[in-house]
Amino acid sequence: MLPSRLLLCLLVSGIMLGGCAKPVSPQRLTATPVVDTLKTSAIAVPAVLKMEQPLPSEIFAPRNIGGRTLPVSTTADIILKPGEVVLTFDDGPRAGKTETILSTLSDYGVKATFLMLGSSAEANPRLAQRVAIAGHTVGSHTYGHVNLAGLTRQEAIEEIVKGEEAVSAALAGGGQKLSPFFRFPYLSQTGFLRTGLIQSGAVVLDVDIDSKDYFKDTPAAVATRTLSRLEARGSGIILFHDIHQRTVDMLPIFLDQLARRGYSVVRLVPRDTSIFGRDLITAGFAADGTVL
Ligand SMILES: [Zn+2]
Repeated sequence: MLPSRLLLCLLVSGIMLGGCAKPVSPQRLTATPVVDTLKTSAIAVPAVLKMEQPLPSEIFAPRNIGGRTLPVSTTADIILKPGEVVLTFDDGPRAGKTETILSTLSDYGVKATFLMLGSSAEANPRLAQRVAIAGHTVGSHTYGHVNLAGLTRQEAIEEIVKGEEAVSAALAGGGQKLSPFFRFPYLSQTGFLRTGLIQSGAVVLDVDIDSKDYFKDTPAAVATRTLSRLEARGSGIILFHDIHQRTVDMLPIFLDQLARRGYSVVRLVPRDTSIFGRDLITAGFAADGTVL
């Protein structure tokens, strides 16, 4: 690289050296929020050090991999074609993490589904709103992340409803609505609860590919594991958590690989918007806790 090129790159990109690995296109310079693409440990290397070595060619070439929008009214509607993935993020929103996740998703032009905890949304209402305002789908994941299979039926229903209400209230402050997507904490479900949820109009979101991003692995290891499982299946709903720094760091690596391998990210939206804001869960259960 000529000195002038190096200087230009440093001036233009700051410490974002990913952009220096290839010719810096005008489009890239104008379209990319430079600062927000930096927050991965993979490239958080001092500029001078990084410039002394060839950059890995696979680092950072954001391009739009947003796929089709899939309207969903029941779980059975979620039928993906080969090469299609759905991104889901559980347990947030988490201040200091979710913001960067949103930025990275924006870089790649993709929309995800966030299954928020009632307690987390209650603690970070503006962040919850920001997720929805950015065009992502927001569902719920109980209030306090308890194992519902270990509760009585009535306790479990109350926990689900409390979670829905808290997420809904947090979103309402920003004029946003809760979508009827729900995921069981620990993927721990009972037939009773699943049936009641489905009958009440909720869409139970299952998981095809668990990134296991809660393991204490490196971001690259999480990306590699998830990609490997995806390649074995060819498509699927992927589970991440927007509460871990390793997930924040992993996401650009993962999305870059999706782009290079030709995958597209499907956006899930509720088919029937009239169910927004309704008390979804109790609609499927009788007062005594039986399924209607
Ligand atoms: Zn969870």
